[in-house]
Amino acid sequence: MDLNYDKYIIAFSGGKDSVALVLYLLDLGIDPAKIELWHHDIDGNDNAFMDWECTHDYCQKFADAFGLQIYFSWKEGGFKREMLRDNQRTAPTWFEAPGNILKKVGGIVGKLATRLKFPQVAVDLKVRWCSAYLKIDVCSIAIRNQERFNGLKTVVLSGERGEESSARSRYKILEVDRSDSRNGKLKRHVDRWRPLRDWKESEVWHIIKKYRVRVHPCYYMGWSRCSCKFCIFGNADQFASAFSVSPDQGNEIMSYEELFGVTIKRNTDLRSLISCGNPYPNITKELAKLATSNIYDQQIIFNTNEEWVLPAGAYGESCGPQ
Ligand code: SF4
Repeated sequence: MDLNYDKYIIAFSGGKDSVALVLYLLDLGIDPAKIELWHHDIDGNDNAFMDWECTHDYCQKFADAFGLQIYFSWKEGGFKREMLRDNQRTAPTWFEAPGNILKKVGGIVGKLATRLKFPQVAVDLKVRWCSAYLKIDVCSIAIRNQERFNGLKTVVLSGERGEESSARSRYKILEVDRSDSRNGKLKRHVDRWRPLRDWKESEVWHIIKKYRVRVHPCYYMGWSRCSCKFCIFGNADQFASAFSVSPDQGNEIMSYEELFGVTIKRNTDLRSLISCGNPYPNITKELAKLATSNIYDQQIIFNTNEEWVLPAGAYGESCGPQ
């Protein structure tokens, strides 16, 4: 693998695989000044609807702890606005750039379309629109609209692991990124690198333990995957756990199922699914409060006199995108 890039952009969700990606680059000796963490806020600039309240600040504090630059980006109105599109264009994308610049792109032209339903639980990103519209597109729009990447060699890293699904096991480890234009006038060379594709979960926890990182609070409560709090891929226990932590958010999501007349899961509505599940036993008031606060106030790196503890959610059932 050629490590001669000018910029290393890490798609940083704040979950364990993206944390492991950062630590892996540090292990490889990549100059931290060349590394940028990019986090896409799922709920945009709106209140929490699908996501964890603490995730944005956890990501910021993680970057601060390792002395790395982080940039946030989002689709205006986030998940909810895209879901509520009713003969409307998709919303503009906002992204941060060096020098405290905040830029808005799009939302003026494009197809009028109606969704009025949740993303479908499917591999196809056309119907599972949340990943495409709220993460993948936001990332490439932010690259394409920053001249600073022209004439440079950039690599975007993401933490998909083959162990998570057969579809992911077939992803290429290295390929040309969709924002690339190396052969055009701009000479913008952008690769996509998935160095963790063949990693086992044990390797992820091993490197996190080595750097003594305190992971996102959802893992200590029992989640095996740090995605949206109410991720559409969740099973009964995961939705029951999310509901026990955030009943108002859960009720709002249920009210949209009723309004749309279309459920998130094909064979059940959310209320019935939750009634079949059991909240994770490791959910405590303190952890729930931490995860649902906009401020993350714990230390990212454990003190040397503290014991690093494997979270309750490690090696649990993984219900995430296929
Ligand atoms: S975590 Fe789940 S709900 Fe959130 S964007 Fe990804 S697939 Fe969609």
